[in-house]
Amino acid sequence: MTTATVVGSGPNGLAAAVRLAQHGIDVTVLEAKDEIGGGTRSGAAIVPGLIHDHCSAVHTMAVGSPFLTSIDLAQYGLEWCWPEVDCAHPLDDGTAGVLYRSIEQTAAGLGVDGGRWRRSFARPAAGFDELAEDIMGPLLRVPSHPIGLARFGIPTVAPAALYARRFRTEQARALFGGVAAHTFRPLHLPLTSAIGLGIITAGHRHGWPVAAGGSSAITAALARMLVALGGKIETGVCVRAFAELPVADVTMFDLAPEEVADILGDALPRRTARAYRRFRHGPGAFKVDYAVTDGVPWTSSAARQAGTVHVGGSFAEIAAGERQIHAGKMPDKPFVLVGQQYLADPQRSAGNVHPLWTYAHVPNGFTGDATEAITAQIERFAPGFRDRIVGTAVRTTTEFAAYNRNFIGGDIMTGAKDIRQLVFGPRTTLQPYSIGIPGAFICSAATPPGPGAHGMCGSNAADAALRYLA
Ligand SMILES: Cc1cc2nc3c(=O)[nH]c(=O)nc-3n(C[C@H](O)[C@H](O)[C@H](O)COP(=O)(O)OP(=O)(O)OC[C@H]3O[C@@H](n4cnc5c(N)ncnc54)[C@H](O)[C@@H]3O)c2cc1C
Repeated sequence: MTTATVVGSGPNGLAAAVRLAQHGIDVTVLEAKDEIGGGTRSGAAIVPGLIHDHCSAVHTMAVGSPFLTSIDLAQYGLEWCWPEVDCAHPLDDGTAGVLYRSIEQTAAGLGVDGGRWRRSFARPAAGFDELAEDIMGPLLRVPSHPIGLARFGIPTVAPAALYARRFRTEQARALFGGVAAHTFRPLHLPLTSAIGLGIITAGHRHGWPVAAGGSSAITAALARMLVALGGKIETGVCVRAFAELPVADVTMFDLAPEEVADILGDALPRRTARAYRRFRHGPGAFKVDYAVTDGVPWTSSAARQAGTVHVGGSFAEIAAGERQIHAGKMPDKPFVLVGQQYLADPQRSAGNVHPLWTYAHVPNGFTGDATEAITAQIERFAPGFRDRIVGTAVRTTTEFAAYNRNFIGGDIMTGAKDIRQLVFGPRTTLQPYSIGIPGAFICSAATPPGPGAHGMCGSNAADAALRYLA
């Protein structure tokens, strides 16, 4: 029987494992931690009964992922829950840019920019499922839908700062800018529109849902499916050297490129080793989870209903903060992402005490404490927030790297998404999943299409492995 080893049980490792097991391959997943899931783990913290997402929270790219929709994860316990409002971006004057799944509803709230928003997103959102086949695979290949891809792709080359200029209102600019900032890059650089346009387009098609019971439900469902297909998972096994790898026909690494280089040592071709050692990491995340009585008293009523709130003020303020963290400086007022998953999934709360998920963009390896900066940013748009805090749990950049070896220096994107790494992945090749050793593949978020709990890096890499085995 053909055998495969998958190192790492993040969503990509498990997606690769399921895809291989679907083809009758005997798969074993080895996970360093005692719990599976990598960047999708959830659990109790602060107050008994609250469920916090320790990393990923909102799953716009997972709910419409070509791989995850091709398998019936509902059968294995995965259920999506949608908030009333997908995302709100409050401003200092009490107004907000508000994103709904419906383009019409979003446009209606954006005044003179409503038509521009509709023209920007209506067509790509309607064709998103076809588009996803192209944008969620290796980018440099013959596309299945070239016209749709070209129409979508040309604007993505623009810097986000340039794209934002098509809007006249601060609400629309900030709304776009907050989503574009998910790229963790200075917004005046080329291609910084790409991730924002991808997320907004996907959201207008599928919404911004959370997984019922916590994001760990995504990988728990994948793991159940894997076991049903005959696969095995061993936790508490940290692979550190080539010699520790079981003999298998195929080995998949759901790891950061440097770790692949460390494990494989001299077995790795010199060109791959050089590229993996030079792999660049982006800024870091500093996370604060809160337990909050009666939720956050946002001034904006839309923010009180939103699953995600982007906190950082105007487009210009966010852009300035992103430039600073890229240059290694901590801004006084960082860009903060806030998740109110309990609004869509009330089982995560304990009575009137609710879990609030937040993280700030900070420089890679930031050693300071950003807790007060995050609290102050939320208080700015929700006076009285401080008085409702029951407790906090903090994860610094260093703690992120210890929690998950793929998040080096707190880089939760598994690599800077600059032009080269966004397009090619960890080395310049048309085969981003190949590492140059027959039968060995890298399948983490360092490879196209990049970060998120969508499993597409894993399933694309598994397809490359299946072609190798054929
Ligand atoms: C704070 C935060 C917020 C996020 N928000 C979102 C969000 O809202 N939506 C979204 O889609 N994504 C989000 N993400 C990103 C998402 O979590 C990641 O992109 C995703 O988990 C990457 O999946 P992966 O399978 O590539 O790797 P990971 O999930 O990083 O998993 C890698 C696994 O490999 C294991 N491992 C590492 N080294 C070894 C070794 N030597 N031997 C054995 N096992 C090893 C690790 O323990 C880990 O379990 C967020 C991440 C963070 C941290």
